[in-house]
Amino acid sequence: MRLIFLGPPGAGKGTQSQMLSESLGIPQVSTGDMLRQAVAQRTQLGEVARGYMESGGLVPDDIIVGIVSERLKKNDCVKGYILDGFPRTVVQAEKLDEALNGSGERLDSVINIVIREDELVQRLSGRRVCGSCQRAYHITTSPPAKEGICDACGGQLVTRADDEVGTVRKRLEVYRNQTSPLIQFYAGKSLLRDVEGVGEIREVFSRINTAIAGK
Ligand code: ADP
Ligand code: ADP
Ligand code: ZN
Repeated sequence: MRLIFLGPPGAGKGTQSQMLSESLGIPQVSTGDMLRQAVAQRTQLGEVARGYMESGGLVPDDIIVGIVSERLKKNDCVKGYILDGFPRTVVQAEKLDEALNGSGERLDSVINIVIREDELVQRLSGRRVCGSCQRAYHITTSPPAKEGICDACGGQLVTRADDEVGTVRKRLEVYRNQTSPLIQFYAGKSLLRDVEGVGEIREVFSRINTAIAGK
């Protein structure tokens, strides 16, 4: 199964795609996680990506398309994958289409998490992420068992620098201008599945499973 998670920053793409990855047994491919890892390791990619990420803008399409196409060639992607945070522009979506057409593959569904902007600001201001495994928590809606410590791996929880309120506003604007046109793009291919994003994490997960099953 080849799936895309679409939605604004804070919609729950990472949380839900990680759960779905475990239940379907296919990898979660998160461009945000890959980029943050590159920044932390100070690789050449990380040095280039850092400035774009800190300002809340997008990393250039050619760089992102390059790292995703390398990632999708890995063995663990043969049975499918879940794209989390990619594509984020129409150019990225067109490049993905070209790559899929070239290998005779196709997407199954694009899950579009629909959510209000005021809810997003709340979520992002309380988000904490594990510095080791990248799992997301929230200080009130989804706290870890032990404050500051990841339930899954014991890693330290940190606040993402780009979750600061000024940067969040910029990221929401970038979403509206550059990413939301993908809703029409995938609706036009009859791949789009809208899922209401407000509600308990488990409830949203069950809506997503229904949406995938009903394709
Ligand atoms: P969120 O989950 O909050 O939407 P991500 O973790 O997906 O954020 O992405 C964090 C940052 O990484 C983005 O603001 C952007 O700078 C960069 N990034 C991630 N994915 C992409 C992409 N597909 N294209 C361009 N930039 C990206
Ligand atoms: P995205 O990857 O789309 O940016 P995340 O999965 O990182 O979003 O979720 C953003 C924040 O909202 C995190 O702090 C997460 O714990 C929290 N969150 C995720 N899903 C829900 C939900 N259904 N209800 C309340 N909070 C949620
Ligand atoms: Zn962890």
